[in-house]
Amino acid sequence: MTGLPYKTLNTILRERFGVRVQKITLDAGLTCPHRDSSKRGGCIYCNAQGSGTGALGRGISLKEQIEEQMQAMKRRYKAQAFIAYFQSFYNTHAPLVELKSIFDTILPYPEIKGLAIGTRPDCIDQDKLRLIESYTPGRLIWMEYGLQSGNDDTLLRINRGHDVKTFIDAVTLTSHFKVRQCAHVIIGLPGEGMDDYVSTARTISSLPITDIKIHLLYVVRGTPLEEMYQRGEYTPLSQKEYTRAVAQFIGHLREDIVIQRITGDPHADELVEPKWALDKGKVRQAIHEDLVSSGITQGCMVG
Ligand code: SF4
Repeated sequence: MTGLPYKTLNTILRERFGVRVQKITLDAGLTCPHRDSSKRGGCIYCNAQGSGTGALGRGISLKEQIEEQMQAMKRRYKAQAFIAYFQSFYNTHAPLVELKSIFDTILPYPEIKGLAIGTRPDCIDQDKLRLIESYTPGRLIWMEYGLQSGNDDTLLRINRGHDVKTFIDAVTLTSHFKVRQCAHVIIGLPGEGMDDYVSTARTISSLPITDIKIHLLYVVRGTPLEEMYQRGEYTPLSQKEYTRAVAQFIGHLREDIVIQRITGDPHADELVEPKWALDKGKVRQAIHEDLVSSGITQGCMVG
């Protein structure tokens, strides 16, 4: 566990590749099915920009995004290997032929050793997984699915547009392919408390999940959550509450699951609250201190 009381991504990347591996984040210009075709309005914490960087819309091709970021990482970190992370919006939300042409962009770059594909659990099927699995020779592949909470009432409250069963079905289907599966969860959703976080950790631990990203819920300008916050209907977590919750979550998480992230990554110009979220280093440090002072290690409360 590299000195930390939980399993980190660096551990498996070092084991597998033996060199420093950096992620490059890519925008393939796709959208969110929960906002466009379905017109369901989107999750309450998401603004119209959603999770997109908008790079493609600004005229930066995928090839340019790949080459610019790889050069920058080589200069800054002397990185020799990369994971291409299709992060913006939902990267399975297109016909197969379009998806193939998007993912094929990585093929000319042997230094790209991994492919991570972010999407919703209601936006995947067997044919798409078969295509994605075809990139595995010589590469690690991750499917990244947002669950956010293992509680259906919460998913309704945040207008997530899918239930827990949809997530379980996607994960079960994906487990038949040679890809890793990363679940995204959010701590601090409206109406949730420690029992919900522990229950979500237990749900994740019961599934063939290999990796997890734990996010903090923060209030972003221009969202329904901001309106709730302004009306006094939502109170963001304090840093202490968040660190306690993450520590408990980690204690209830299966020991072999790789924890890729333990906090959020808000844009300063969009963030309403909590402002403490901007200092990610401090948040990470506080979580590590909480784990050590509570004697919690990953999985110590499983079973
Ligand atoms: S959070 Fe993701 S799924 Fe929800 S509306 Fe935004 S982009 Fe769509």
